Amino acid sequence: MTTSTASTAIATADAALQRAWDVLETVPDPEIPVVSIRELGILRDVRRDVDGTLEVVITPTYSGCPAMSQIAEDVAHALDVAQLQPYRIATVLAPAWTTDWMTADAREKLRAYGIAPPTGNCGSASAPQEKVVRFVPRALPAPSCPRCGSAHTERLAQFGSTACKALYRCLDCREPFDYFKPY
Ligand SMILES: [Zn+2]
Repeated sequence: MTTSTASTAIATADAALQRAWDVLETVPDPEIPVVSIRELGILRDVRRDVDGTLEVVITPTYSGCPAMSQIAEDVAHALDVAQLQPYRIATVLAPAWTTDWMTADAREKLRAYGIAPPTGNCGSASAPQEKVVRFVPRALPAPSCPRCGSAHTERLAQFGSTACKALYRCLDCREPFDYFKPY
């Protein structure tokens, strides 16, 4: 029956797609290995192109994020190991990545890792037309200390260990920590 042959082919293709998702779920962020690129929202889509090629869509957390070539290499390596060739990796810059895409799990893992997760959200979901690049610092609520939970924190530097993070210090336990800035 031609119909069942066709649906078997589709089911096989879908299985490979699902396997690609499963494989890529486990690819860690090169800078924060406790969270995966999926949890951070860097992995946007895994789909099959019209020519049958697997297409993986990734969006850098910040344009010019130096970790991006590393992420693409890690994605390629994971797909190679799983023998999911042929594939192509597409880096998509629009819509721009926002910390809103980070899962709740990722925020908790960041905190456990000693990085304060972004507070609030940038409002891009409700007002996409207002998602513009801002050149002035916005007044943001201070993050809580990821170690002791104190809200008494102060910013030491706009940039922490990477451009994505700011360096803060807890005024209670005195520990410095990275804050993943909302973006
Ligand atoms: Zn503290």
